[in-house]
Amino acid sequence: MSKAIKATKKSVPSKAGTRKEKHVYFFGAKQSEGDVSMRALLGGKGANLADMAGLGLPVPPGFTITTEACAKYYQIGEKALHALIRDEVRVALEKLEKTTGKTFGAGPNPLLVSVRSGAAASMPGMMDTVLNLGLNPETVEAMIARTGNPRFVWDSYRRFIQMFGNVVLGVEHHQFEHELDAVKHAKGYTLDTEMMTDDLKEVVSRYMKMVKAVKGCDFPTCAMEQLTLGINAVFGSWNNPRAIKYRELNDIRGLIGTAVNVQAMVFGNSGENSATGVAFTRDPSTGEHRYFYGEYLINAQGEDVVAGIRTPQQITVMGSREWAKARNIAEAVRKAQYPALEESMPKVFKQLDSIRVKLEKHYRDMQDLEFTIEDGRLYMLQTRNGKRTAAAAVKIATDLVKEKVIDEKTAVLRVDPSQLDQLLHPVFVKSSEAKAKRITVGLPASPGAATGQVVFNAGTAEMWAAEGKRVILCRVETSPEDIGGMNVAAGILTARGGMTSHAAVVARGMGKCCVSGCGELHISYDKKTITCGKTVLKEGDWISLNGSTGAVYEGKVETQDPKLTGPFAMIMALADKYRKMGVRTNADTPRDTAKAVAFGAEGIGLCRTEHMFFEGDRITSFRRMILVAETVKGLRAALDSCADAEERAKIEQELAAPLRQYKQALRELLPLQRKDFIGMFKALKGRPCTVRLLDPPLHEFLPQDDAGQEEMARLMGLAREQIQSVVESLHEANPMLGHRGCRLGISYPEVTEMQVRAICEAAAAVKGSEPEIMVPLVGHVRELASQKALILKVMAQVEKEKKTKLSIKIGTMIEVPRAAVTADQIAVEADFFSFGTNDLTQMTCAFSRDDAGKFLGEYVSKGFYDYDPFQVLDQEGVGRMVEIALAYGRGVKPGLKVGVCGEHGGDPRTVAFCHKLGFSYVSCSPYRVPIARLAAAQAALRG
Ligand code: PEP
Ligand code: MG
Repeated sequence: MSKAIKATKKSVPSKAGTRKEKHVYFFGAKQSEGDVSMRALLGGKGANLADMAGLGLPVPPGFTITTEACAKYYQIGEKALHALIRDEVRVALEKLEKTTGKTFGAGPNPLLVSVRSGAAASMPGMMDTVLNLGLNPETVEAMIARTGNPRFVWDSYRRFIQMFGNVVLGVEHHQFEHELDAVKHAKGYTLDTEMMTDDLKEVVSRYMKMVKAVKGCDFPTCAMEQLTLGINAVFGSWNNPRAIKYRELNDIRGLIGTAVNVQAMVFGNSGENSATGVAFTRDPSTGEHRYFYGEYLINAQGEDVVAGIRTPQQITVMGSREWAKARNIAEAVRKAQYPALEESMPKVFKQLDSIRVKLEKHYRDMQDLEFTIEDGRLYMLQTRNGKRTAAAAVKIATDLVKEKVIDEKTAVLRVDPSQLDQLLHPVFVKSSEAKAKRITVGLPASPGAATGQVVFNAGTAEMWAAEGKRVILCRVETSPEDIGGMNVAAGILTARGGMTSHAAVVARGMGKCCVSGCGELHISYDKKTITCGKTVLKEGDWISLNGSTGAVYEGKVETQDPKLTGPFAMIMALADKYRKMGVRTNADTPRDTAKAVAFGAEGIGLCRTEHMFFEGDRITSFRRMILVAETVKGLRAALDSCADAEERAKIEQELAAPLRQYKQALRELLPLQRKDFIGMFKALKGRPCTVRLLDPPLHEFLPQDDAGQEEMARLMGLAREQIQSVVESLHEANPMLGHRGCRLGISYPEVTEMQVRAICEAAAAVKGSEPEIMVPLVGHVRELASQKALILKVMAQVEKEKKTKLSIKIGTMIEVPRAAVTADQIAVEADFFSFGTNDLTQMTCAFSRDDAGKFLGEYVSKGFYDYDPFQVLDQEGVGRMVEIALAYGRGVKPGLKVGVCGEHGGDPRTVAFCHKLGFSYVSCSPYRVPIARLAAAQAALRG
């Protein structure tokens, strides 16, 4: 043992278990102090190394410094931390020396170690690693004497200086490259492998000088100092920008830090009988397990496999043949130049293959393995649950059930619901996307992939689509008027708008790819161009959108269709078996309804009837109604307050024509709405359908731009000014808080009557249909009571006319804070509640749905909110409002049916929250139905 690490008697810790705070855990054959259950403390890598050693697998011994020590590193600083753990580290090193028969920092048989990060959640490549630590002039000589292989030792030394210099001392990578290239250049080499021992010595000497020049001090030669600095660097890398970003993107929260694994080095680069590799027990991109998937390199260190300088070889002969076939490499060439491990080292392969089986059985999941072969001896360096695509996740989980490795419940818990999105939409062919030129990134508003030609308005989109072209509708923002164009477009791109903007909501409903809120894009309708930095796209140019990541590409990217059978169908059936909460969909057309039913929706939780007014030319009838609605309302009010007979007659005369137009427009709309409902009720085949009465402010149905107003005036035979004046009269400063929701039905009762009649007549026409009528934006129970009276009146009329009995529930949205806190009163009048969490978030947090996108990103990144509250329900605030309303509502009516129909209905965290509160169902856009089904099952299984 070297002097440097001799532990004093005083500092030797008492036996494991009796020490109050233990920071260092040893692992090695039959000596592991940790196990797999200690993941939070030892990190995934540390816990699994301890576990593998415990299983008797060939693991190089070592020790793990805990994540708690990392937390302390940040709390008390590196000096105080090392004072705290120094003795434990010394004891562990002493044990490591004893186990390996080697000495740290000294000859004749020097112990070299790797120092690696490893948090409880895997964060591949995000934190730092140092290999070959412990090399210095003395140990280099000793190793040469021992191995008789000076080239290998000097190569290890130069690699160590480079890695340590970069990771620990902060010398930039290119500075090392510069020195290396200088030596290679002087000798006329192109490859590192051409360098001989003397060249490597020269590189080391240059590295040392350069480090001194850059850092102003010598490269540390004391092994213990190297170790201390290495440990600090790994702890420090927990909070490097890359790691922080990775945790943010993968929603990794609540971890206290990384553990540090100090492990005896084994060398895959010590000769032709050595190798290193990575392998998966099943294919991580498809989930297949026809053979053992993995790659290895002879005479190499782990970094060489990932560096891409040499071509890695396959583990199995079968894999190797497929690999060669894909590259047109003849069998003879393959065998000679790229043999499989199965061929080059058959005995080691056999051992590795049996370890693969053992590990998968032990962890009951697909494993990602790292191994090294040193002079023909196999060592396992790591095992962890392998990262996988959604397709692989579903296939592996269901295969493991069939193989009786895991039970059904475990399989349901194995698949990340939000990952399912990848399986439901067309997706880009990976290789094609990798090659594409990305121009910007917006919000991933509606998943999927789309490629098409740029168009700037809905009309052109419809025209071009009719000619068989694939188009991407590009708008500054969309409005309901664009629905026709959105419907035919392959994808939608907007410069403004958040995740609940019109474009996002409608696109998700349609299952159409949409990227919204691309702030960097400048869209000019006049010039018909999209400008983003130096890129300018014109109408007709090709553009591609990845709605799952928000990426926007110039040009075409190849897409492929998803498959919804096999493993996907099986995991969905299992989810349905274990979930307790219903899952409905938000849909407004028979086509979307049929799609949602195919995705497993158990009914419609929200039919936004306003969307129906935009189909075909029915918008004209609706606009005719709007044009006179205000006049009719004003004159009726005048009539009500007028007692003078002569004056009344005059008003009545004035009212006659607009009233005729008003009623005529509604008469035109009635059969159209009825037809829509009939279509949807049929598609639902007896499943319930919550139909919401008209909600948006009326100005949304009129063209706001000059050209649109001109066109509308022409169609209606009116002067453009007349249209303009109605548009102006409907203008509101805060339309979202304005004349909308049930307020419209109160001002224009005939609209409610027409809609209710259409629903009732459709219900009478479709046997077994189960409509429910929902009143939007109720804040006061009297609003609901008044609309309910109207609904009941029309229902009775239709029952009488059709000589039938209708059983239609009447309920309300809870989306106004006043409704939530008076839900006990509202429940008296309501057969059901459906939480409109979009508006409830908007009004509770005072975040405009349309504008908050501008600052919410910053709000979330600065930690004011954990997530965008329009995507993930703000449980503490808006969720509290929901809890209050639920308690009040069920306090009055214990069995009250309660659902959620805001965009949150498809978010797994919100689904879990709704399950916990005892919701009857969640409702979301068709493409999120499978996600909600799985999330509901997981919530039920987690209890
Ligand atoms: C809501 O507010 O949550 C809701 C579903 O209604 P809309 O999005 O149509 O306002
Ligand atoms: Mg709403």
